[in-house]
Amino acid sequence: MFENLSSRLSGVVKNLRGQSRLTEANIQDAMREVRMALLEADVALPVVKQFINDVKVRAQGHEVIGSLTPGQAVIGVVHEELTKLMGAQNDALNLAAVPPAVILMAGLQGAGKTTTSGKLAKLLKETQKKKILLVSTDVYRPAAIEQLKMLAGQLEVEWFPSDVGQKPVEIALAAHDYAKKHFHDVLIVDTAGRLAIDEALMAEIKALHGAVNPVETLFVVDAMQGQDAVNTAKAFNEALPLTGVILTKMDGDSRGGAALSVRHITGRPIKFLGTGEKLTGLEPFHPDRMAGRILGMGDVLSLIEDVQNSVDQEEALKMMKKVKSGKGFDLEDFKTQIQQMKKMGGMSALMDKLPGQVSQMANSQVTDKSVARIEGIINSMTPEERRKPELLKASRKRRIAAGAGVQVQEVNRLLKQFEETQKMMKQFSKGGMAKLMRGMSG
Ligand code: GDP
Repeated sequence: MFENLSSRLSGVVKNLRGQSRLTEANIQDAMREVRMALLEADVALPVVKQFINDVKVRAQGHEVIGSLTPGQAVIGVVHEELTKLMGAQNDALNLAAVPPAVILMAGLQGAGKTTTSGKLAKLLKETQKKKILLVSTDVYRPAAIEQLKMLAGQLEVEWFPSDVGQKPVEIALAAHDYAKKHFHDVLIVDTAGRLAIDEALMAEIKALHGAVNPVETLFVVDAMQGQDAVNTAKAFNEALPLTGVILTKMDGDSRGGAALSVRHITGRPIKFLGTGEKLTGLEPFHPDRMAGRILGMGDVLSLIEDVQNSVDQEEALKMMKKVKSGKGFDLEDFKTQIQQMKKMGGMSALMDKLPGQVSQMANSQVTDKSVARIEGIINSMTPEERRKPELLKASRKRRIAAGAGVQVQEVNRLLKQFEETQKMMKQFSKGGMAKLMRGMSG
């Protein structure tokens, strides 16, 4: 996410951090760098100007000049202003309405409305135990209706049927009526998008809005569109009282412009980020954490939440016990660990949230591909071999390598990694965390 922007801003941060005295000239230099980085990331010009101006004013003020570590203080200011730019704090979904609380999904075709409708349904069902009804009013594309039906089936969430012969407003009203009668907490209305903004589309979504009186009107937009995304958001915001924005495809090579501009330009909060095609790829948007990520400071809080949400608690407890008792950590457990990591969105999703230096260091060693290979190798072992890796002599290794389609060296490397993990676990069980950390730094 935002690799370029992040690496450039981390560079500025690193430079500033080293300065024990700041002069007007080196603040100017740093601000010039930041300005260039933001423009290259496709942040809207008025946003860049305002941002640089706000940071400069504060950087020349006493909070920085009077500080013992002025470089650090400037970084603090940049972090705060970046956070403010993106909305200061997380804006959660508002579902306070007479049930069903209606969520209206707006946006252009291909933005990710249908996928995001499914992701929201999953989130609300799993984390808030809401009873959800999904409906599509896209009467122009039968495939879109089918897509939503399929997602609903996958999620085991109820789906309200609609077809191309009907009018969007009629569908929405019928679904609303049904949801009320059947005590659904939330009705998610997916709508038709066009390739570009047009009058008919706007009239239709306005009519839908008037008919179902949504408590949330969410604008879904592809973050990779950069400033175009922001312009479309502006147009929709003028036509509809939007309550929030969802930026999708943040897992792609979006440069960051949309995330940094959309709040300032529309005044509407970003509520979620879409971070993958799968239904798990939805994250609440936290401006402060995002600012940390952009500045290369990592986002450890989100990482912890990911772990809590996706790791099988029972499995984790079992593992903890094993680690604590100091015995029996075998290749089967190693595989479980890898699978849990995969559930959290794979290595690339994890790396995104680690501080810059750590992530670079780890990145060179572990990738999603190498994780898949490790799994392949472990899968080629017999259960007995996984429990007793010491059985693995040359001929077995050759068999395993052939089974996984890799070289024997790779099997050796994996066994070495496993041994090291095992050693770490043992240390942990003997002396707890403190000893482990000492061991690692020594
Ligand atoms: P709609 O026309 O607005 O309903 O868009 P869809 O939900 O059909 O999504 C269009 C395409 O974008 C599909 O191929 C989705 O899988 C993909 N997509 C949606 N959200 C994301 C996301 O957050 N990340 C990625 N990588 N792809 C996404």
